[in-house]
Amino acid sequence: QSQELSQAQVDYHAALQALVEDGTRMVCTGRMHTDRICRFESLCYSTEAEEFVYFHSNSSVMLPSLGSRRFQPALLDLSSVEDHNTQYFNFVELPAAALKFMPKPVFVPDVALIANRFNPDNLMHVFHDDLLPIYYTMQQFSDLDMEARLFFMEGWSEGVHFDLYKLLSNKQPLLREQLKTLGRLLCFTKSYVGLSKITTWYQYGFVQPQGPKANILVSGNEIRQFTKFMMQKLNVSLEESSSEEYIVVFSRTINRLILNEAELILALAQEFQMKTITVSLEEHSFSDIVRLISNASMLVSMHGAQLVMSLFLPRGATVVELFPYAINPEHYTPYKTLATLPGMDLQYIAWQNTDQEDTVTYPDRPWDQGGIAHLDKAEQERIIKSTEVPRHLCCRNPEWLFRAYQDTKVNIPSLIHAIRQTVKSKPGPRKQKWSGSLYPGKVRDAKCQASVQGTSEAKLSVSWHIPWNLKYLKVREVKYEVWIQEQGENTYMPYILSHQNHTFSENIKPFTIYLVWIRCIFNKNLLGPFADVLLCST
Ligand code: UDP
Repeated sequence: QSQELSQAQVDYHAALQALVEDGTRMVCTGRMHTDRICRFESLCYSTEAEEFVYFHSNSSVMLPSLGSRRFQPALLDLSSVEDHNTQYFNFVELPAAALKFMPKPVFVPDVALIANRFNPDNLMHVFHDDLLPIYYTMQQFSDLDMEARLFFMEGWSEGVHFDLYKLLSNKQPLLREQLKTLGRLLCFTKSYVGLSKITTWYQYGFVQPQGPKANILVSGNEIRQFTKFMMQKLNVSLEESSSEEYIVVFSRTINRLILNEAELILALAQEFQMKTITVSLEEHSFSDIVRLISNASMLVSMHGAQLVMSLFLPRGATVVELFPYAINPEHYTPYKTLATLPGMDLQYIAWQNTDQEDTVTYPDRPWDQGGIAHLDKAEQERIIKSTEVPRHLCCRNPEWLFRAYQDTKVNIPSLIHAIRQTVKSKPGPRKQKWSGSLYPGKVRDAKCQASVQGTSEAKLSVSWHIPWNLKYLKVREVKYEVWIQEQGENTYMPYILSHQNHTFSENIKPFTIYLVWIRCIFNKNLLGPFADVLLCST
């Protein structure tokens, strides 16, 4: 990967002239700072001021033109974490004429993606906040291809997982610190600023206790397209599942330990009649872990960032997440949410240690490793007595940290029982037929015919044709939902029908106008759109 910015690609005088004459041009997508990504031509960065610079000229463009709303609170989020006040992007403005008095610009010839990594030392954050969002931001803009260059502006050093970031493009990513060595005024010929949040599934609890995002927009398919890309780059090939089935225990070696790991491995192997192996980030290369997990039937691990590796599990596999004493699994669900995304096709099981005898606490460690010695005595006692960490905000709640960094002796019968509630026979991976869930189109050519019998009875015959896409599909079960609503009323009568016509007679009055809503349903839960409402007069 080339680290140098190749100035050979830049016609320096032409570039400088364009900058002076045209200034900066910015066009963004998104209505709010939280969903905005901006494309720039000639965005500059002063490495001395550590500020981005927008140059005004006769040809410059700034869309949206927010005026001072640009600072309320910012133009956009530079990381994929929503509205975090340490992650805002903005620029300062100057007239292009000021360039005469400024350091000579150094031009960045590569198309740049400028963003912040959120927490590059934590594997969950690396995948969820950075790698997936970068990958899909690059998919969104066609000139962000493998020749694009990533610029990480959060100010961290490379971090332990930098090799993963390098897989996303052929050019070496550059860090904020390194920009200083390139020049005093850097000008990005073409750049995109910000990351798509479309793939994120979890909010970490900055404003409300952590939990799944309110409106999740990613499914297993997109996750697996990403992991397929990563595996190609890591040179990990998907082996044929003809080979032996096995269970992976992903262990932590520094803290939050499983104290009876050997016993656990033996028990799993015996119960499921499968080879059971352990991996850890400390003892295995990343590629080896991916290779092992991508063919595993079950992944067992303490709650923790390493569990994000269930991204790489094959469809049908089982994730078993172990929670230390006093930590309610329902309150910490980044990996449950991942495993249960539509189309991930993973089975998820949470197990919690409920026996105080089986936990080892570390009250005397530093606060960031869960120590509580710095708290007053009464608070320490309350925490030690408590049987559940109350819901809390991120990130420094001492009771949470105290409990999160306990070691656990796993109660084997209790764990096996929990797994057996869900995994009845042998755990996955199942060779599944493509179970893509396709939705019906609208029903077509809906018609109604009314007949009146006397002054108090009427019938309504409604018929329609199948949705257009049905004739190309093999669908297990096709049903129709029909709602009949008297005009002007709020309520309606719902019907589920198997045929394409039906005569309604109950509760149908003569000389009344009915609105008839019809939609198709595939396989019980794939609800299609309603066709245009049908007006029927009896
Ligand atoms: N980590 C690890 N082994 C350990 C402890 C931590 O590999 O024994 C990794 C962990 O997977 C994560 C990072 O170190 O990527 C930070 O761990 P921390 O406990 O701070 O975060 P958590 O796992 O609770 O998200």
